[in-house]
Amino acid sequence: MNIVPTFLATVRRSRHSRRNVRLMLQIVLLMFAVIALFAVIFHYLMLAEGHFHSPAASIYWVLETMTTLGYGDIVFTGDAGRLFAALVLLTGILLIFIIVPFTFIETVYASWVAARNEEMAPRRLARGISGHVIITSVDPVSFALIRKLEHYAYTYVLLVSKFDQALPLANQGYNVMVGELDKPETYKKAQIEIASMVAVTCQRDSINANVAMTIRRLAPEIPIVAIAQSATASQILKLAGATHVLQLTDSLSQFLARRVYGGKQRANVVASFDGLQIAEATVRDTKLVGLTIEATRLRTEAGVSVLGVWHRGEFTPGNPDTELTARSVLVLAGSTDHLQRFNALYPQPPVSGKPVVIIGGGRIGVATGQALEHAGIDYRIIERDPEACLADGHRVVGDATRLSVLMDAGIGDASTVIVTTHDDDINIYLTLYLRSIRPDLLIISRSMHERNLANLHRAGADFVMSHSTMGANYIFNRLKRSNIEMLAEGLDIFRLPVPPKLAGRKLADVGLRSRTGCILIAVQDESGMNINPDPHEPLPASGEIILLATVEQEASFLKAYPLASKPK
Ligand code: AMP
Repeated sequence: MNIVPTFLATVRRSRHSRRNVRLMLQIVLLMFAVIALFAVIFHYLMLAEGHFHSPAASIYWVLETMTTLGYGDIVFTGDAGRLFAALVLLTGILLIFIIVPFTFIETVYASWVAARNEEMAPRRLARGISGHVIITSVDPVSFALIRKLEHYAYTYVLLVSKFDQALPLANQGYNVMVGELDKPETYKKAQIEIASMVAVTCQRDSINANVAMTIRRLAPEIPIVAIAQSATASQILKLAGATHVLQLTDSLSQFLARRVYGGKQRANVVASFDGLQIAEATVRDTKLVGLTIEATRLRTEAGVSVLGVWHRGEFTPGNPDTELTARSVLVLAGSTDHLQRFNALYPQPPVSGKPVVIIGGGRIGVATGQALEHAGIDYRIIERDPEACLADGHRVVGDATRLSVLMDAGIGDASTVIVTTHDDDINIYLTLYLRSIRPDLLIISRSMHERNLANLHRAGADFVMSHSTMGANYIFNRLKRSNIEMLAEGLDIFRLPVPPKLAGRKLADVGLRSRTGCILIAVQDESGMNINPDPHEPLPASGEIILLATVEQEASFLKAYPLASKPK
């Protein structure tokens, strides 16, 4: 960090800092004047005692007395001289030990710290940055997005309106810039004309709308990706100028509902890329239980590939000798045709009729209930607030931490519970509790923060999805260089252009899974989507690959095989 020029610039710019530095200089001058005066008085008092001392010796005596060193090599013998020595000593203590250091800390040091802080949390974008993503809110979605951007080596700037808020973030290593979100000046200083995108993720729709409008006035073309809390807000944000709007509540609730295995088909499609469908299918009540993946012959019989198997929230890549149990959930890849063949071979038994229990009747809980209803699955919502507006017949009022309330909702024979409160602590507590009373239950949980994912899994959740990851992936996908679908929290399917280091190489020679942990699902080129690529065929230089990987594996893939281009 080049602090000296910033310090000088701060002093030059700020009247307060200039005044401080001037005050410090005045005190130093005063100190020199006092030393000179004392040296003269010393000289004459010594003459009165019959001793001559040179000017250098006089200054030396004053300094040794003022700094309380007092070697005792030059001493007064008369009372006048001794009283003078006491005065010099007290003045020294006052000036050198109290006034000078305190003034230094208050003036020069404070300006220095201010300059250093400004260097860390500047009011304009650092030089040499372009193609950056401007992030306009400090919230869990933004932090998840930053992690993703860093993995992919994108530059970003996090706008923070208050300096006090920016500084701790800068200390944690975030690239922050201080500026008011509703001032066009801020975006000019963030170099919006050379940025690649703006992410508008504040939890208040009104703030997002104002931010989008401010940006649009300046940059008519830049993609603005916003997050809306409701369908109406989504329309308003589009009117305000947002290019893409994600209604997070809807997406999250659909994701949670999709995890409930009770639909009409055994294979539930959870992600799709053009012609490629990724689906999950339970194994229970089929003749697949007890077989190894190789013995299922699913590829020859239905055309689907088994990418892996879920068991209690843990995903294992599909090795030929992986054995399937009644609680296994297959992750399949194939075309619509292939999945239909699979569904015909392994039809879903009639829906059990036992309602799914949803805990929390907030927006996510209600939307999840609606998504289940749409899929023909019955549900009950436990909500502790008796005032909450919930449909009769689906509502159970009470605190879900009480066994009697859980029993009223039918926890005794339910097959699935979805925990949807916005408080991760409560979600972890409830998951632990539910797992202890019903070890066989399918528990699906929402989490607010990525950091609580591991605890929710450890508490016994089978599937977890967080707001922040979902929002971050949606925004990240709008950067176009990669396309990400989430299979579950922490496990993504993503599409990338074939990296130069892989172009023309055969999969069989690369050892992709052993090197990076990533599973290659499909290759796409001009001829279309190749779902089961031949490992002995070279990868096309201009094609795309679709991979399945955890966030860490994805990062290690990008490190081993960097992409050709950065976004413009
Ligand atoms: P939201 O704030 O939209 O995520 O909604 C969460 C909902 O869950 C609120 O309506 C809370 O009243 C409800 N809630 C939180 N904890 C419990 C609990 N222990 N039992 C039942 N409902 C709860």
